[in-house]
Amino acid sequence: MPGQLGAPGSALQVGAHAGQPDRHAELVSGVLDALPSPTLLIDPDGTILLTNSAWDLAADLLGEDRLRVGVGGNYFRVVVDLADDGPHRDVVASLRELSAGRQRVVARDYAMPSPLGRRWFHLQASRVDQAGRVVVTHTDVTSRVEAEQTSRWQAQHDHLTELPNRARLHELIDAELRRPDPRPVTVLFLDVDGFKDVNDSLGHEVGDDLLRQLAARLSSRTRAEDTVGRLGGDEFVVLCRDCDATGAEALAVRCQTTFDEPFQLGERSVRLSASIGIASAGSDDVRTVRSTDLVRDADLAMYAAKAAGRNRVRVFTPDLRFAVQQKALVAAELHGAIDAGQLVLHYQPVVHLPSGEVTGVEALVRWQHPVRGLLAPAEFIPLAEQNGVIAPLTRWVLREAARQTAAWDLAGVHLVTAVNISAAHFATGTLVSDVAEALAAAGLPPERLLVELTETSVAQDPDAAAAQLAALRISGVEVSIDDFGSGFSSLSQLVRMPAGVLKIDRSLVNGADSRRSQSAAAIAAVVGLARACGMRSLAEGVETAPQLATARQLGCTYAQGFQIARPMPAAELVRWLSGRPDDAPTPRLAQLTAAGT
Ligand code: C2E
Ligand code: MG
Ligand code: MG
Repeated sequence: MPGQLGAPGSALQVGAHAGQPDRHAELVSGVLDALPSPTLLIDPDGTILLTNSAWDLAADLLGEDRLRVGVGGNYFRVVVDLADDGPHRDVVASLRELSAGRQRVVARDYAMPSPLGRRWFHLQASRVDQAGRVVVTHTDVTSRVEAEQTSRWQAQHDHLTELPNRARLHELIDAELRRPDPRPVTVLFLDVDGFKDVNDSLGHEVGDDLLRQLAARLSSRTRAEDTVGRLGGDEFVVLCRDCDATGAEALAVRCQTTFDEPFQLGERSVRLSASIGIASAGSDDVRTVRSTDLVRDADLAMYAAKAAGRNRVRVFTPDLRFAVQQKALVAAELHGAIDAGQLVLHYQPVVHLPSGEVTGVEALVRWQHPVRGLLAPAEFIPLAEQNGVIAPLTRWVLREAARQTAAWDLAGVHLVTAVNISAAHFATGTLVSDVAEALAAAGLPPERLLVELTETSVAQDPDAAAAQLAALRISGVEVSIDDFGSGFSSLSQLVRMPAGVLKIDRSLVNGADSRRSQSAAAIAAVVGLARACGMRSLAEGVETAPQLATARQLGCTYAQGFQIARPMPAAELVRWLSGRPDDAPTPRLAQLTAAGT
């Protein structure tokens, strides 16, 4: 029953229209009953003076018997009966303040447990008279609050794994760094080795499945006080609270054990590993470090771990940052180095084993850096590949190698010159025309040029590679697969490649001294494979006389390595060729007359 408005002695009569208390009370009661929100009037000690029909129905609607309190009952007791916690006691305290005139209004959202689940109400209260009586309304805002909570959750979490996302991780790390009582903070940066291969070969859905499985495994291996999050792709971060680098190393090793068990991906069982970088801030440093610094340092350490051979853990040290700055500097300078004429080619002789003749050379680029001296390709080729400089660099190498080969021709030295091509160059789609232009500019026949591609670069996009290689071979340019045996590309892909020469990686050839029988077996197998595919074979990195003898005995067509000669400038090569004794294993070429230019 709606509350007894204007009951005898009720203070509500105060201020009513003189002589018309009943009509006025009736009007107020009608207005209150028309309000959809449960509403009541209470006096300063919480005693309920008046309720509207929405309040009287609330107990039934919410299935909550504790709301079955009407006029004469105590509202404050109802509130703390529902949940005797901080927010509910706070509501009562605020209403007392309001009633006493020390607060103007009370307006807040609060959660109410109910048998139908948690409901959210917006409580709004105002003081209505000098006696301190207060009107309280309750508006059900459950759907709005839930929608807000959902969108906040979505903004902070990764949809695939439901782990905290990048933005949330940074918030959590920064919060940990800014604790009033500082303690060490460590960040682990984990990247799955070879994740791209899973995605490329098994499809993105399988890749997603793997990431979800990994997220669950990582969450179960870390301590309760740690937070696992996903930055994106296959990159995960673990925030380790109250943990220094030593503790984190143990944790990192535990994270790596999550990879001991293979991942079940559909029908397949796939074994993977991860590289992990660690960066820490001690209790004394946390004030000066930001979350972005820690994550970046851990990322650098992860890259160093990967570069050192994957499946490793590496703790960040400042020299890693210096190395990155150095690389950025080199990358910026590289753009100008080609035009400034700072690149040079060195040539390493290739011997045809059956005849013992030097029939070709491999052109290997070097950078004559004005400050740092002669730089090896490992110091700038990867940067050139990442910074879009590789295509102009390779065009220069092709032109220079073709020009030099033609110049040797004029001098009576007839060599086939090999040029290395990066995987990144395939993507430009200009390889065939770049080669043709270099040959035309030098007036060199196509048979005198050979392009070398690594096994892994061929594996990256086999169809694109095969099409461009086929076009080159049709034009007369020979193709070789470099470093064969160092990667793990599929044999079926290799067999489809239109290449004429298979270069056996130095790691297989070098073993010919210490692990003679295994190494010989491996070389024999590759020579057999090359023959079966109609290809010739070349033993790379031959460093000793026994290795050279093994390569010859096992039927390799060519050999190249320090035992024969190191890479050298063009002019030196001509001297080297002319200076070789007649009984050398690699007889000098006939008609050698002039120095290379
Ligand atoms: P690669 O094509 O496999 O070249 C052979 C590398 O092995 C050369 O290193 C050579 O100096 C080295 N080498 C030759 N014989 C021996 C030996 O007996 N023992 C040992 N330990 N090493 C030997 P380099 O000149 O430092 O080149 C390294 C790599 O850089 C090359 O490997 C090639 O992949 C790349 N590279 C060189 N020049 C170019 C270029 O013009 N373009 C591209 N894209 N890559 C290049
Ligand atoms: Mg090569
Ligand atoms: Mg090689």
